[in-house]
Amino acid sequence: MRIAVIGSGYVGLTSAVCFAEIGHNVISVDNDKLKIAALERGTVPFHERFLPELLMRHRGGRLQFSASVADAVSESEAVFITVGTPQSETGEADLSFVEAVAREVASAIRSSIVIIEKSTVPVRTCESLRKTLLLNGAQQTLFSVASNPEFLREGTAVTDFLYPDRIVIGVDDHLSATVMHEIYRPLTTGSYYRREEAIPFEKRATQQAPIIVTNAKSAELIKHACNAFLAMKISFINAVANISESVGADIEQVCAGIGSDSRIGPKFLNAGIGYGGSCFPKDIQAFQVVAHQCNCDFGLLAEVMRINSDQARRFLTKVRDALWTLRGKRLAVLGLAFKGDTDDVRESPAIAIIEALLKEGALIRAYDPAAIPKAKGVLPDNNSVVYAADAYDAVAECDALLILTEWKEFASLDLHKIRSLLKHPIVIDGRNLYETARMTNAGLIYYSTGRSASFPAHMSSIAHQTAPLPAPFVRPAVGL
Ligand code: NAD
Repeated sequence: MRIAVIGSGYVGLTSAVCFAEIGHNVISVDNDKLKIAALERGTVPFHERFLPELLMRHRGGRLQFSASVADAVSESEAVFITVGTPQSETGEADLSFVEAVAREVASAIRSSIVIIEKSTVPVRTCESLRKTLLLNGAQQTLFSVASNPEFLREGTAVTDFLYPDRIVIGVDDHLSATVMHEIYRPLTTGSYYRREEAIPFEKRATQQAPIIVTNAKSAELIKHACNAFLAMKISFINAVANISESVGADIEQVCAGIGSDSRIGPKFLNAGIGYGGSCFPKDIQAFQVVAHQCNCDFGLLAEVMRINSDQARRFLTKVRDALWTLRGKRLAVLGLAFKGDTDDVRESPAIAIIEALLKEGALIRAYDPAAIPKAKGVLPDNNSVVYAADAYDAVAECDALLILTEWKEFASLDLHKIRSLLKHPIVIDGRNLYETARMTNAGLIYYSTGRSASFPAHMSSIAHQTAPLPAPFVRPAVGL
């Protein structure tokens, strides 16, 4: 199948490369000419496992790059739209990039083609897409519109795409159903998994990727509902964590007890500084607007967002409790990306927390295995933020260590070395990466989420002083 993918960001590039990997001829398009030039040279513009090798495998063969939507569309049987759908000022999804692409696609349609929305969009966007294509000169008999929401996660994007929990296709006619089935056939029949050179994955034994066929509106709704549910799980456990912390329970034990119920499951039950990234915050907002437009009172979504923004504020309160005043204090920060295994700092809670700490006069020594170049683009370019070469370089001579992203390497630090490098033995962990006893045995005072602060034996007198209050006062943070 000849496929065009419009937008070569996290979703578009991953989709284009993976479609080529499963046997299609793909043109990956972006209006950012520098990005296209870099991709043509073989450079992936972001950190994502397996993408560089797959790009090398297919670039110049089944995978081509172009800055022209018209050229790509005129040579394709299917066009995926994967451009950004950011949050507008009013909270709803800004669909102007999608509309701009639709206009360009409309004027380039010459033969039968399916236009597929893969970007995350509100329910009924397929209808608007169809209307825009017609208004801009596309012949009704030559095109179909389908929805194919994307569920990949940054950090595991390639394996999520190739080994999906499910593929959702929202189709309202025979042409789009046939084309969509054809595109995903190597995954749904399992023929891709039997190839010698297939990207390895523990689910390799998977015989066939499940496919769920719905109408377009249901597919659109699935994506928003899915993200809202996951965000709700995170906010739920954070609310429970706050109770746990107040009464001196251990949220990790509570999570083990909750998550082992097969009706709930252990995933997304991680207490901490809350969700971030380019999807959840804007998608939950957009879904709330959709509910409002449908006259449905979905107040639960507002509560999910309120709890989430409160988590970062609570974390800052802990930093102040641990350090008293912040002006002039040197704080080591491990983690800048919104989650581990990615360099994406969009809506990263780590960045928001750093910005609030800077406003209170703290000095930051930050380290992230991948996100430093992107963080440099958003954090102040002055001496208040210094970037370290590794985790140990970051903590040297600092008043405390703050863990803000759950990179695997941050969960296996040499704690005795950390203790010896820090000026004061204080660790404030926004991701609950450690058992409390490991920290205190290494001589560190440990603050985490949903667990009481813990102190090494020789500092037990401070522990009594800071016993949890029934209702901790949460001071509004500057900038959060
Ligand atoms: P992104 O910002 O990384 O990429 C979007 C790309 O589209 C950019 O490279 C931009 O230059 C390009 N673009 C914009 N207008 C264009 C135009 N007119 N013609 C050609 N190219 C154009 O965004 P992303 O993270 O890949 O997200 C894309 C969509 O997928 C969003 O709706 C997002 O919500 C959704 N999504 C994202 C993820 C994720 O983890 N990032 C996961 C699932 C779904």
